[in-house]
Amino acid sequence: MAKDGRLNVVLKCSECGSENYNASRNKKLHAEKMEVRKYCHVCRKETLHKEKK
Ligand SMILES: [Zn+2]
Repeated sequence: MAKDGRLNVVLKCSECGSENYNASRNKKLHAEKMEVRKYCHVCRKETLHKEKK
């Protein structure tokens, strides 16, 4: 478990703070935090989602 470097992360809307997406990240391939533009159903538009700590 978790030996392949995969890490489950929560993607949080940077505008309203709602936790909208779950993702998994490979620490070896993506050392830095994820930032993705995704649709937020609370803001009702596409916003920047950042990985929750
Ligand atoms: Zn939002």
